[in-house]
Amino acid sequence: MPSLMQGKRGLIMGVANDHSIAWGIAKALHAQGAELAFTYQGDALGKRVKPLAESLNADLILPCDVEDIASVDATFAAIKEKWGGLDFLVHAIGFSDKNELKGRYADTTRANFSRTMVISCFSFTEVAKRASEIMKPGSAMITLTFGGSTRVMPNYNVMGVAKAALEASVRYLASDFGRQGIRVNAVSAGPVRTLAGSGIGDSRAMFAFQQKHSPLGRGVTLEELGGTALYLLSDLSGGVTGETHFVDSGYNIISMPHPDALKA
Ligand code: NAD
Repeated sequence: MPSLMQGKRGLIMGVANDHSIAWGIAKALHAQGAELAFTYQGDALGKRVKPLAESLNADLILPCDVEDIASVDATFAAIKEKWGGLDFLVHAIGFSDKNELKGRYADTTRANFSRTMVISCFSFTEVAKRASEIMKPGSAMITLTFGGSTRVMPNYNVMGVAKAALEASVRYLASDFGRQGIRVNAVSAGPVRTLAGSGIGDSRAMFAFQQKHSPLGRGVTLEELGGTALYLLSDLSGGVTGETHFVDSGYNIISMPHPDALKA
């Protein structure tokens, strides 16, 4: 029975197409009765996002570029006007110049470091603050991160630094909002073939390596990421906040490849 999210309303930020992690999450939440609003970045992506959002009965589909603070404010004003409040938020937004997602981290430019941090890290703090102002106790929010935050992944470079700061933000925001009864967590996803994922230099090799050497010996699906998001955004995870939860087939626990993987 689709009831886990019945009566709950949430905002999904970060759908680009039907391969997006945010899309997998949206489908899982909708299947459990959630009412969804979506944002899209610019008109070109809007053409893809609108039909997807409408297929999940969304009628609040808003343009929002997190580099433009006015569009962030307009998004939350529109939600407040239409719904009066918000029960959950999904932030699945990340960006860095792909010319710097290859080669050495040391060669990151000041301009791209700042832009990557604003879009991939600070935007979560900015939207979380606005969401918290219209959330009741029992609400929850999540963002998406990657294991390149704590361990070096070739070519992930400045995104790894931004994800480390994003995970720290999750802990600080969890503390800020905890007494309001609002929970804040991160999902650390294994590699998924998406628009953002394919911007990382030599991403195919990194994806293949992780899939081969993870304990489960495979990648993760959008459905699995959706299921974890559902858990973290529903009352099932009522006592969980400030966590970075891995959904990566266990890749984060290994120190060397499994003997079976070395034989293969
Ligand atoms: P995606 O390309 O489908 O989604 C990235 C989204 O970020 C897009 O919808 C894009 O419009 C949005 N975005 C970028 N700049 C923006 C801006 N200025 N304003 C508003 N939106 C903006 O790729 P995805 O892999 O689904 O990425 C979603 C999140 O998951 C990202 O934070 C990414 O770092 C994270 N993640 C991805 C993987 C992976 O392997 N794909 C693994 C772990 C974490």
